[in-house]
Amino acid sequence: MEELIKLAEEAYDNSYSPYSGVRIGAAAKGGSGRIYTGTNIENSSYGATICAERSAIAKAVSEGEKVITALAVTGDIDDYAYPCGICRQVMSEFMGPDAMIGVSGKGKVMKVYKLSELLPSAFEYNRGGNNNNGV
Ligand code: ZN
Repeated sequence: MEELIKLAEEAYDNSYSPYSGVRIGAAAKGGSGRIYTGTNIENSSYGATICAERSAIAKAVSEGEKVITALAVTGDIDDYAYPCGICRQVMSEFMGPDAMIGVSGKGKVMKVYKLSELLPSAFEYNRGGNNNNGV
């Protein structure tokens, strides 16, 4: 998890965040062991913005990963860069309830959570219930 946080820190150097000025980075470890980084990419139409976590997961899935085993997120902010609700939902598509998520921020000691702690009672109706994704 320490390596993932370090890569997430490096990833936010590429942040495109002219509207919020908040730079966020994420690193996702795929089932193959490969690591994919992502950063927040904002848009003048705010709803078109993509968060760092979804950016990293999109890269991983685009490269053939179907499972994310761990993810770390951090930001150039004086607080913890907790994933938003949409990102937590996207994580639940590719991560099992026990998959670990590291969260940090500038000068913060990383906190590590299970996905099930960040997203209890995840919506997985279309997959037939919780943890029906084979991970
Ligand atoms: Zn998000």
